[in-house]
Amino acid sequence: MRGRGDRLAGALAEAELDRYLVTDLTNVRYLTGFTGTNGACICGPDLRLFLTDFRYTERAAAEVEGWETLTIGSDWLQGIAERLRGRVGFEDDQVSVRLLGKLKEKLGEGTEMVAAGGRVAGLRRVKDAEELATIAEASKLADAAWAWALERGLAGRRERDVARATEARIRELGGDPSFPVIVAAGPSAALPHAEPGEREIGRGELVVFDMGAKLDGYCSDGTRTFATGEPGERARGVYEVVRQAQAAALGAIRAGVRGEDVDSAARKPIGDAGYGERFGHALGHGVGLEVHEGPRLSQRSEDVLAPGEVVTVEPGIYLPGDLGVRIEDLVVVGEGALRNLSSLPKELQLVE
Ligand code: ZN
Ligand code: ZN
Repeated sequence: MRGRGDRLAGALAEAELDRYLVTDLTNVRYLTGFTGTNGACICGPDLRLFLTDFRYTERAAAEVEGWETLTIGSDWLQGIAERLRGRVGFEDDQVSVRLLGKLKEKLGEGTEMVAAGGRVAGLRRVKDAEELATIAEASKLADAAWAWALERGLAGRRERDVARATEARIRELGGDPSFPVIVAAGPSAALPHAEPGEREIGRGELVVFDMGAKLDGYCSDGTRTFATGEPGERARGVYEVVRQAQAAALGAIRAGVRGEDVDSAARKPIGDAGYGERFGHALGHGVGLEVHEGPRLSQRSEDVLAPGEVVTVEPGIYLPGDLGVRIEDLVVVGEGALRNLSSLPKELQLVE
């Protein structure tokens, strides 16, 4: 974790900040290793200070690496304010206006708060070898949960029952679901963020099955669309368009490519097939300590891909009242070929 504080300090010098206050707990965890629910970091050229309260002193001693730990007694904000100097960057995308106002009241003379959010999120985009190994492991765990779920069959069961049973299986395998499992069949699958319902999955339907596992704080995310028996020519046609779009996007991913261009690579075949209006979400997103983080693969993204970033590639076509298809892989961006962490096949699988 020490290297992470150094990288942050380097970024601060560029922004002419004397101190940087990190209050977002995921960012605190990333920098220090701390997993408790109250902590903050102050970073400066020669300062790596982690603050917590008495409830977490012991946990901090066990977890925090490369940062000096300080337990703050009664007045949390006062304890922080006393350790801020000069131009202090803070996470304006995380800190409430109210909290900022209270903190400002306690600052010493000559100390000023500067909106400077997103610095740690920027660092988090590129994963180190250990993070990549954990995410790959999480992805493998999810794939194992899928295999288990498919063995039990989908047709004749309620979407919600399949989803809950799969979440339980993820826990049995030693992880946690990184978000509530999505199982959406037939017309329900036409909603990109469908919640599993009471509906019984029929025969010959397409079933969108979206899930991820979380291990040591790191998430995976993937989707497959299965058919409960022969779904018919039209459904197969839609599936094939999505599969080709997904392959095109995977082929476009490498370091130096813009997120917008990868998104376009998937959008083109879907548009050509006449379904442009039916692919209403972004192509993909970064995954790490959070299941949605940078970089973004979308038409509005200004991100440029870098080696070591982990992103999803998840085109879909959704026909309201009828059916939906989404195929999502989790991949590691490389200088050349990407590394695909998803092992499930992508030809349409007919399942029970
Ligand atoms: Zn996703
Ligand atoms: Zn997903």
